[in-house]
Amino acid sequence: MKKVISFDLDGTLVDGRYGDLVWNHGIPGEYARTYGMTFEDAKALIRSEYESVGDGDILWYEIDYWLKKFSLKVSAAELLNRYTGEIALMPDAFGVVTSLYDRYTLVIASNAARIFVEKELAHTGLAGLFSRVVSATTDYGMVKKQEAFFHKLCRELGASFEEVVHVGDHPVFDHDVPSGLGIESYYINGIDGIDGCDCEAALPRRKISGLKDLLELLK
Ligand SMILES: [Mg+2]
Repeated sequence: MKKVISFDLDGTLVDGRYGDLVWNHGIPGEYARTYGMTFEDAKALIRSEYESVGDGDILWYEIDYWLKKFSLKVSAAELLNRYTGEIALMPDAFGVVTSLYDRYTLVIASNAARIFVEKELAHTGLAGLFSRVVSATTDYGMVKKQEAFFHKLCRELGASFEEVVHVGDHPVFDHDVPSGLGIESYYINGIDGIDGCDCEAALPRRKISGLKDLLELLK
């Protein structure tokens, strides 16, 4: 019996464009201005710095680390506020979440730092619909790719792995890791074969084309 539905946030409930603007437009723009280079050059340089860390490392998600590393004067809050008007829900997100609300405990399990998560939830009207909102990196000091994240989440929720469904748009963090533990996991918009399965125990990827498919699957 499923009791809990756990959602990734960026690219799952909220359009990934907001995060993309902050990381790949705002920061390179500040860098280009500060060091007198073109935006494109700054963007390429910064992208390679991000990639050298990688999204499996907690530093990837820590905006203050990057602002300090690049010696930029802008604050994280200022950058996040700059693009607030661009925060948008993914198609069907509101309808799917509200229709599951009565039947399940809904939680958010995001890798994004809490400042991003809170801003996104506040601007989409989703905040009140979730019993628990977890930023893996800020709240637990770990990345969702670690099995320990899902152990801790389920322990806090008082739920067994079998009672949880997780959905998200990262093939490894949102599918292979939780499914390897026995959590029924769905990978949104998947194109198989790009990253391979990281976890031996992971099941073949269950792919869905959008959040709406969840309603059918959870009937
Ligand atoms: Mg995501």
